[in-house]
Amino acid sequence: MKTIIEPFRIKTVEYVKTTTQEEREEILKKAYYNTFLIPAEDVLIDLLTDSGTSAMSAKQWAAVMDGDESYAGSKSYFKFEKITKKIFGFKHIIPVHQGRAAERILFTMILSDIDSDGRFINAGKGKFIPSNNHFDTTRANIEFNGAEAVDLVIEEGKHPEVIHPFKGNMDIEKLKAFIKEKGAKNIPVCMITVTNNTGGGQPVSMENIRMISKICNENKIPFFIDACRFAENAYFIKIREKGYENKSILEICNEMFSYADGCTMSAKKDAFANIGGFLAINNDEWYVNSKNLLIITEGYETYGGLSGRDMEAIAQGLDEILDESYLHYRIYSTKYLGEKLLANNIPIIQPTGGHAIYVDAKNFLPHIPPEQFPGQALSVELYRYGGIRAVEIGSVMFARYDKDGKMIPADMELVRLAIPRRVYTQSHIDYVAEIFCEINKNKNKIKGVKIIEEPKFLRHFTAKFAPVD
Ligand SMILES: *Cc1c(COP(=O)(O)O)cnc(C)c1O
Repeated sequence: MKTIIEPFRIKTVEYVKTTTQEEREEILKKAYYNTFLIPAEDVLIDLLTDSGTSAMSAKQWAAVMDGDESYAGSKSYFKFEKITKKIFGFKHIIPVHQGRAAERILFTMILSDIDSDGRFINAGKGKFIPSNNHFDTTRANIEFNGAEAVDLVIEEGKHPEVIHPFKGNMDIEKLKAFIKEKGAKNIPVCMITVTNNTGGGQPVSMENIRMISKICNENKIPFFIDACRFAENAYFIKIREKGYENKSILEICNEMFSYADGCTMSAKKDAFANIGGFLAINNDEWYVNSKNLLIITEGYETYGGLSGRDMEAIAQGLDEILDESYLHYRIYSTKYLGEKLLANNIPIIQPTGGHAIYVDAKNFLPHIPPEQFPGQALSVELYRYGGIRAVEIGSVMFARYDKDGKMIPADMELVRLAIPRRVYTQSHIDYVAEIFCEINKNKNKIKGVKIIEEPKFLRHFTAKFAPVD
């Protein structure tokens, strides 16, 4: 079948506001040309993130009404626990309010010495945690605990134009050499992110997961999966990896997680929920220690910072995400936008990943130097011409400065168009492509931006910009 249609129909609608270009000029000025500072109400198509922005199904909303808000032993928790065990197969499931809370608990625990009174004493210094690419909150939680987060993605994963079926894979030789160099005792856990968000939503193959697991086993290093987009990854395995074409998504997920000792999960991604997550662990001692941390800051073990109705929505969402017709639509509708952009000579990361299209702004706007932030300039144009909100993933986010204050640019200057799940129709996506064509016509006139005010940390969220003259 050639046409990829949405495998759902619309039952409730949410109106979006159209604005004129004149109004948007004013809004941009007021927001200091930072898309994070634009009120969401003034956005026509919001591609800022796919996190927590999914449209819930009728069954999820029905489940919300059925939420059991009992403090301990809620029926909704047991439902949530049952489906997570069915998909992920781990022994212990700890609910948390979102992915980064699972990361905080995991890394605080494994990067601490625990004294006889159960107190945690940080021991992160001199420890290393490898992954393909750590997501930014994962990295922050590792570094906040004193350890070093190390990216070991394969070389192909670093080049936007290079085609590879599993560009999110970890470089196995590099991992072996890394363990040899640093010593297994200094690597308390090894991670892999599926799909690799930071690297363009690129998948990781089953073979790669199996090999990492084998190496970790040989070196007695626990292996954890950052599982946020596990179902999208499983679908890529099904369509691209030999031997999996006739397996169900559930079977592929079961195999993927059978190689690991635990996982962290944000339910704001592949669980169609607006909030939530969990930490899953096989090791009994780690489970007890994690629960202690959970109860101090998140909540009791059968809700962990979530309401009963949240756990209901997640449980139902996890059941729905395994649906192959949905995943088929998801992966091919992302590809549809990518192909439209490529057909109009808009350079993007190839092949297209699961949840987003990444436009190569350095290549698209070669007349704007990194010091004038081509990615930021392009995201401003998208809003100016089309009321579309995207996010820069380039030097605004990642540049560093040398001791003389000279900027060391990021490796890539990208604009991410993240696609919320089940939210936009094909005509919305066609519109996005049309706006790109409009921008393309006059792209040589687009000017860069400069920073006029910025905070010390995570500046992309709140920095203020102005157009360069
Ligand atoms: C979103 C995300 C996280 C963090 O989850 P939150 O729910 O936003 O805290 C961790 N890893 C990856 C790969 C993510 O995409």
